[in-house]
Parts: sequence; structure tokens; C-alpha cells
Amino acid sequence: MPEKESPQKESTAPQSTLITGIGELVSNDAEQGAYAALTDAALVIAGGEVAWTGPASRAPAADAVVDAAGRAVLPGFADSHAHLVFAGERSAEFAARMAGRPYRAGGILVTVEATRAASDVVLRAKLRRLVAEMLRQGTTTFECKSGYGLTVPDEARGLALAAEVTPEVTYLGAHVVPPEFAGDPAGYVDLVCGPMLDACAPSARWVDVFCEDGAFGADEAAAVLAAGRAAGLGARVHANQLGPGPGVRVAAEAGAASADHCTFLTDADVDALASTPVVATLLPGAEFGTRQPFPDARRLLDAGVTVALATDCNPGSSFTSSMPFCIALAVREMRMTTEEAVWAATAGGARALRRTDIGHLGPGARADLIMLDAPSHAYLAYRPGVPQIAAVWQSGHLVDAALPAATLTEPSASGRRGE
Ligand SMILES: [Zn+2]
Repeated sequence: MPEKESPQKESTAPQSTLITGIGELVSNDAEQGAYAALTDAALVIAGGEVAWTGPASRAPAADAVVDAAGRAVLPGFADSHAHLVFAGERSAEFAARMAGRPYRAGGILVTVEATRAASDVVLRAKLRRLVAEMLRQGTTTFECKSGYGLTVPDEARGLALAAEVTPEVTYLGAHVVPPEFAGDPAGYVDLVCGPMLDACAPSARWVDVFCEDGAFGADEAAAVLAAGRAAGLGARVHANQLGPGPGVRVAAEAGAASADHCTFLTDADVDALASTPVVATLLPGAEFGTRQPFPDARRLLDAGVTVALATDCNPGSSFTSSMPFCIALAVREMRMTTEEAVWAATAGGARALRRTDIGHLGPGARADLIMLDAPSHAYLAYRPGVPQIAAVWQSGHLVDAALPAATLTEPSASGRRGE
């Protein structure tokens, strides 16, 4: 269970809370896997779950009432791809790249060096700062990868720290071959599939591999995923980010939950994604941060591929933790509709993590939800760069509120009905 970092963490949730006056309630349809929304809606939270949704005029009584005053309510964002355990700082690299130097996967090693040198205290503090930042921006579930340690103890340490803040922990020993194995990449793959996996699997739910020129090839990636699966881990793949390659095919053959990036795809790649349960997780922050062409989301959606959006938050190619920013990019630059982008950032992320309890707000869903200081989900793309998250609930607890809490939650002494 993620730690809650906000000042409101001590507040105890009432037994049930009615949020009424919701201008637009994005509920998503869990069974149809489709975007769905209600207007003039209400929602009841009880026991950490969504207990009821429907028209505000028919809302049942509850112990406390929140008047949304026409604001929109959405599922909390599910950021299914993030690299949050690291030390060091690479703004100069970004600035140089913006001045014309091309992105190279080798930049990862700059962060590896700083991460290995950092104390547990420093790594934990930096991680928790990012987690708090994500929560304030409406991310109620996030995945967190290792991959900046690349030794047995450093990878195990990164995963143990990640496991303190999320259940969605991903072992990414196969991020890049570290310099000490530069002459023996096969030896490094053996380490990743052997002693390093043994040390890391207890903290992880997923295994990931960076399948790309300059990182790991198809056979190496398949070996890493097979070893991870034998250790009980689900598969994810960094695929087809920097150019055409075997990543998507490897992901499909391994039964991966998600192929991430998907920027350079052949028709066969699109067919593989459309004909298997592999989610295509698009990470437009990486294209933004490296000034590369954005993935063709329209092509994937029109082919029937399940698409997720995630931040790829990392210090090299995409140092944003903002799902609203990624939604805005997806709508403006990738021709996703506002509905598609919001679905991909909530239900799509849930699917990429194989989670059925989040990403929607039907009865029985985990009560992870956000209130916008705006009347419609479209404002996330319509007003890019503007803080619009008015409040965040996680498992039914109000964990962050930009609006004064007093205006949000008022006890209803008599359990009055919503209007
Ligand atoms: Zn990544």
C-alpha cells in the first residue's frame, strides 16, 4: 500500500462519504473496457471502495457530504511506467540535447553512477518526494522500476525502496549493460537472470527489459523475461522506442502485460498488439523530452489495440511525473480524443498493470479518485500546464486537497440526501 505523504494523512475517513453535485463523473465501464461518464452525478465511498454511483437527484444518505459544486470527478491516474529510484541530476544533458545533441541510451550510466554512490537515506527521500509529487497531480497508483543500480546489491536495494511505496514494483536489471560488463554482455545477462533475479524477485511483481539497439537484443530480452517468469514475475518490455526492432514481438511471445513506448512499429507489430492482450503503453513525455516523433496512437486505436498512457518519469528522457501533461500531449500531438486519453491514463494504465480494482469508478472499485477544479475531463488537455487537481482520494481517504478541506468535507449530522 503506498505511503501517504500529504499533511492530511492523519485524517480519519468517515464511514461513508457522499460526493454530490458532480458536473461530470468519469466512471469508465470496467466490463466493456470503455470510457463512460455521467453528468449531474453523485458517488458514495464506503469501506475504501465505491459503494454507489448515479444521478445526484437519487443519491443515498451518507455520514459525510462533499459538494463538488459542478466539478468533474475521475478515477485516479494509474501511471504504469516510472523510474523513480535514482540519485543525481541531468538537466545539463537535457539542455544540451535541446541544443541539438541526439539522445543515447548510454546516458543512463550517468544516473547509475550517482545512484550507486547515494545512501539509502538520500535515495528514499528522493523517491518519496516524487511519490508525493505524483499524488498531488492525481496519480493514485504507480509502477516503479529499478534499473539504476545494475549490481546485485544495488538492484535489490532499489526494489526494496520501491516496495515501500507501491505494490507495482518492477525489476529492470536489464536496463543497460553496466560498464564493468562492457566486454561481456552475455555475462551480464547471466547475472540478471541468475543471482540478481534471486535477490530481486522477492520485492518485485514484474520483470522488464530494455529491448533496443544499444541495450538488449531479442534473444537476451526473451531470456530475461523467461527467467523472470520462472521466478513468478509478470513481463513488461521497453519496446520500439528509438527505432524499429523486435521489442513488441518479444513482448507478445512472452505474454507480457505491456509493451512500452511503441514509437516505431511495423504493421506486424500493430497486428501482434491487436491480437494479444499486450497493452501498448505510450510515453509521450519521452518523445517530448528527446524531441522525437510521437507514437501513432491513432493507428493503434483504429487497429483495436488497448492503449495506456504513462509518464516514463526518469531523470534522462522524461523527467515529468505529470499524467495531466501526458494527457495533454496525447490529445494535442498524438490525435487521441480527450476521452481516449483520459481512459488510457486511468483504465488503460490499470490494464497495463493487470489491475481490475482501479481505473474505473463502478461499485466495488477501489475509491481512488480525483476531483478537478474544472467542470470536464477535457480541461486536462484544454488547460495544459495548469494545476487543476482540487482533491485526491486514495482507498476512500482524502489524501490531498488543494481546496480548503473545510469546503470539501462537511459532516452530515442527519445524513441529509444529496440534491
Ligand atoms: Zn522507461
